[in-house]
Amino acid sequence: MRVLLMGPPGAGKGTQAEVLVQDLAVPHISTGDMFRAAIQNGTPLGLQAKLFMDQGQLVPDDVTCGIVRERLVAPDCRDGFLLDGFPRTVPQAEVLETILQELQMALDVVIDIQVSREALVQRLTGRRICRQCGAAFHVVFNPPEQPGKCDKCGGELYQRTDDSPETAENRLDVYTKQTQPLVEFYQTKGLYQVINGEQTRQAVLADICRALGRGA
Ligand SMILES: [Zn+2]
Repeated sequence: MRVLLMGPPGAGKGTQAEVLVQDLAVPHISTGDMFRAAIQNGTPLGLQAKLFMDQGQLVPDDVTCGIVRERLVAPDCRDGFLLDGFPRTVPQAEVLETILQELQMALDVVIDIQVSREALVQRLTGRRICRQCGAAFHVVFNPPEQPGKCDKCGGELYQRTDDSPETAENRLDVYTKQTQPLVEFYQTKGLYQVINGEQTRQAVLADICRALGRGA
């Protein structure tokens, strides 16, 4: 089973990916993990990626795609994989097609976890951090017993600027702009399936399994 998992920040993609790779017994291929591994192992592409990242620049597509290629040729990917966070753009998707063709593979399905904009903003802005001990809470999903106060040490909770509504809206805008053409790309190929991400974690997983043809 070769799956591409898509979804905006806050859609719960990471949580679903963790469970899915165990269910499907395939490796979880996330861009972040791949970069970390390539850099840690000091591969030539890893070193190139590090140069860009150290300067706070985006890693160019040819480097990213090279790292993905190195990962996909590994023996543990022969029977399938779950791609998470790559491809993010149509040019990257086209390179992925070429890599997979070379390896005589193809994607089976593209799963897109969709959540309404309001719900995403609520999820992305709800995090609160303790000033004293760094404990993390969420006003909706993991609220402290007393609003604004840390359960562990009584410290004051605050919202990081990363979690501000402006930053959330901005991240979502960037995501939508980048991935909308990707959605059309995979729709044309007949691989694209939408999952309603505004349900319980279990219900989302059950829907994904159905989309993968694995029952609930
Ligand atoms: Zn605390």
